[in-house]
Amino acid sequence: MKVILQFRDLLGILINLLVIGHAWTQVPTSNQPWAPPAELPAASTRSIAITIDDLPFVGYGAPLSEMEKGTDKILAALSKYDVTAVGFVSGESVMIPGEIDRRLALLNRWLSAGHELGNHTYSHLDFSLVSMDDFTADIIKAEVPLQLLQKPLEQTGRYFRFPMNHTGKTAVERDAMDSFLKQRGYVAVPFTVENEDYLFAQLYQNAEQKGDLDLVQRIRDAYLEFATSKMAYMEKVSQRLFKREIPQILLLHANALNGDALDILLDQLHSRGYQFISLAAAMADSAYLQPQDYIGRFGPSWLFRWALNRGQEEIWRGDPDPPVWIQELAKK
Ligand SMILES: [Zn+2]
Repeated sequence: MKVILQFRDLLGILINLLVIGHAWTQVPTSNQPWAPPAELPAASTRSIAITIDDLPFVGYGAPLSEMEKGTDKILAALSKYDVTAVGFVSGESVMIPGEIDRRLALLNRWLSAGHELGNHTYSHLDFSLVSMDDFTADIIKAEVPLQLLQKPLEQTGRYFRFPMNHTGKTAVERDAMDSFLKQRGYVAVPFTVENEDYLFAQLYQNAEQKGDLDLVQRIRDAYLEFATSKMAYMEKVSQRLFKREIPQILLLHANALNGDALDILLDQLHSRGYQFISLAAAMADSAYLQPQDYIGRFGPSWLFRWALNRGQEEIWRGDPDPPVWIQELAKK
């Protein structure tokens, strides 16, 4: 607990220096990074499950027609690499007056393509800021739009992901929510790697709206490079913790950046030797049975949480940050 408080103190300072992203999952670095070995033996088999949050789409004010195009691009990229993903739906992003049918149609495209949908609360509530009663009521409310879909019973309602991966700021809350989700038939879904796509995506959208095509390209390139550096780091963390590369679970968001970049991002993963597997297959790995007792206001990767349980939190201090120019741009 003492270690966690130290991390929280550090995070409290650093979080004020960075844009508070839509899904804050990054754990800031210190100036004494853990130095992973330069080279690790190549894994014989790497596997990864793809999860995409904030469906139907994070448009940053873009018209619905753009969100529809972006959705089609994401689905085309997933199809090209034969990926079966799980998308997590924010209910209130569906129930927009005058647009409900088209937004439900967006979700039905995911289902028709063979993907699964899960509950991400109705209002994208932060569990660290609201009461247990308010949070559980919001989960139940989010089931309404899911039940309006074409295949509501077969392909929805199994999975739940906490907004921002805030799983509870006290042990009592965390355990109570764990019981609630189990009773309601949900599996709470972890992630092991993310790439702060939400940070890049907002800047990407701004640059597109300004028609600054050079900046659009630079942001996309920086995002893809950063995604690779994060992946490489997580592979080493997995080796350090488990002496092998466990099936990774990647967290992305449905946005225009991923509409334009997911094809390349998946190609990068494929080139690193990854096989795309289902979330269920990833979570069947014994690694996901490991205890994690993270308590706090942040939403770090499960690799970080397992490291905390083992007293190996130092390995997170080399966790890559987005390029400084991206962080500076985000502050403007
Ligand atoms: Zn979210």
